Amino acid sequence: MCKLCETKPVYEFTNKRKVCKNCFVRYFQKKFLTTIRKFNMIKRGEIIGYKKGNSFRDIVLEDLLFMFSKNGMVEIVKIQKLDVRNQKSEIRSRKSDFKIAISSTIDSESDKIVHILIKGDSKNLKEIAPVDKKVIKPLYLFLDAEILLYAKIKKLKFKKEKEKKDKISKFIDELEKKHPEIKRAILNSYLELEK
Ligand SMILES: [Zn+2]
Repeated sequence: MCKLCETKPVYEFTNKRKVCKNCFVRYFQKKFLTTIRKFNMIKRGEIIGYKKGNSFRDIVLEDLLFMFSKNGMVEIVKIQKLDVRNQKSEIRSRKSDFKIAISSTIDSESDKIVHILIKGDSKNLKEIAPVDKKVIKPLYLFLDAEILLYAKIKKLKFKKEKEKKDKISKFIDELEKKHPEIKRAILNSYLELEK
């Protein structure tokens, strides 16, 4: 049972705390705002671009960005290319700072970290940062499972796509099954090292 409202739970955190639909949505939206603040991702008056996609990560990012823009602090625009220099002159000519939000998650980033380390390209580790120059990752502290559940509860339409996974990715997935939180731990260790 959800401890707060005594209703049926939809999600259980690794610390065994269970939450109902409403409490989960509240937790999720609050965490999104906390992530933006924690990593100083967005400042008042900025324009935030995002690329329209069909995956559950993309549509949840879009949903949350529009929720965020409702307070009038920022403007959200759809863009064609995920490249800050390559935007329409219309955006470039404005005085406001322009940033691009992408839908990286704990799963995607922990996977990249392990790949980079195994290949020994540690200079590429910089790309894993929550903010990489003008690129921000507001879903940085979410698991795919949480994002998928949010999409389902909010009835957002997305396309199921099967990600191609190599041996390393499958290995990390197996580890996560036996040791839940290992993906989060990889990302947290990375953040500690890059401080
Ligand atoms: Zn509840």
